[in-house]
Amino acid sequence: MKTVEHLNDKRIEEIIKKCDVCFIGVVDGDMPYVLPMNFGYHNNIIYLHSAPEGRIVDILEKNANICITFSTGHELAFQHPEVACSYRMKSQSVVAWGKVQFQEDFDKKVEALNILMKQYSDKKFKYSDPAIKNVKIWEVPIDKVTCKEFGAPHEKYQGDDTVKRSF
Ligand SMILES: Cc1cc2nc3c(=O)[nH]c(=O)nc-3n(C[C@H](O)[C@H](O)[C@H](O)COP(=O)(O)OP(=O)(O)OC[C@H]3O[C@@H](n4cnc5c(N)ncnc54)[C@H](O)[C@@H]3O)c2cc1C
Repeated sequence: MKTVEHLNDKRIEEIIKKCDVCFIGVVDGDMPYVLPMNFGYHNNIIYLHSAPEGRIVDILEKNANICITFSTGHELAFQHPEVACSYRMKSQSVVAWGKVQFQEDFDKKVEALNILMKQYSDKKFKYSDPAIKNVKIWEVPIDKVTCKEFGAPHEKYQGDDTVKRSF
């Protein structure tokens, strides 16, 4: 089994779209703080939402830097069932970095919520005015992204020049 690094935006987007949760890492003074969150993704921007107040919002108001990890396709695999170090978790993951910008515009908040909901449902939703006013919408334009696929099939990406192989 191989680990491949994807440099192809389309493949990265496919992996993000398969996830149902992301893990957001922020810097609280000299201590990391990592939380699971739901998300939406569109055009190189990650959308998140939260309550207007809380520890995470306090932290981001001081330091907007964020690292967001996505991981999917988890499948246990091994070469020999008795050999622990032959076990691996097949998976695909994406790590993205950026800065959180809180969106205050009413219509843009609705757009962001629609993007978020699209990650989870094909339904169309309506939101009440108080619901929009009381939700904190975060937008994270991606500054840097990396993507790895663990336990990729050997032949799958042969000839794909957007993929760098590591052994
Ligand atoms: C699968 C999943 C998806 C989620 N999606 C969202 C989302 O889209 N938006 C959203 O706002 N929240 C979401 N949450 C909840 C989120 O992880 C945080 O709990 C929430 O955002 C509040 O964070 P805070 O730092 O403001 O909490 P506060 O209540 O201010 O935190 C107080 C303390 O509680 C502890 N704490 C906070 N959150 C957690 C946690 N998740 N697990 C264990 N301890 C915790 C920490 O020690 C923290 O210091 C999700 C949780 C899960 C499990």
